Amino acid sequence: MNGSAWLAQLARLGADLLFPPQCSGCGRIGALFCPQCAQSVEGTPATVCSHCGRMQPAAVPLCTLCQQEIDPPLTLTRAAALYTEPLRSAVHALKYEGQRELAEPLARYLVASFRRPPVDGTYVQL
Ligand SMILES: [Zn+2]
Ligand SMILES: [Zn+2]
Repeated sequence: MNGSAWLAQLARLGADLLFPPQCSGCGRIGALFCPQCAQSVEGTPATVCSHCGRMQPAAVPLCTLCQQEIDPPLTLTRAAALYTEPLRSAVHALKYEGQRELAEPLARYLVASFRRPPVDGTYVQL
């Protein structure tokens, strides 16, 4: 670790001591998004439209809305998780309250979603 990185880490540690991070999901002190909240994030179900990712009663290649699209602007969309608490509060804090430090813990859900194979093993090409 070079000198400036060490100083930056020391400054961050000092700031954390003066203003300890608070969980955006439950308000606990100690982390911006605590392990309990991180574990309670609800993943998306497997029964989604393989194109748009909207939840369906069963997995389908194309939902009725996608079947009606003549020239869809996107090839594939997926939600990283359900937009429920505590994720909802964390996303709100990131987007509207300027808590950019939440980008890293929340990005983990995006990465996990990206690595997950599509519903039926193949992507639908429109
Ligand atoms: Zn929490
Ligand atoms: Zn669809």
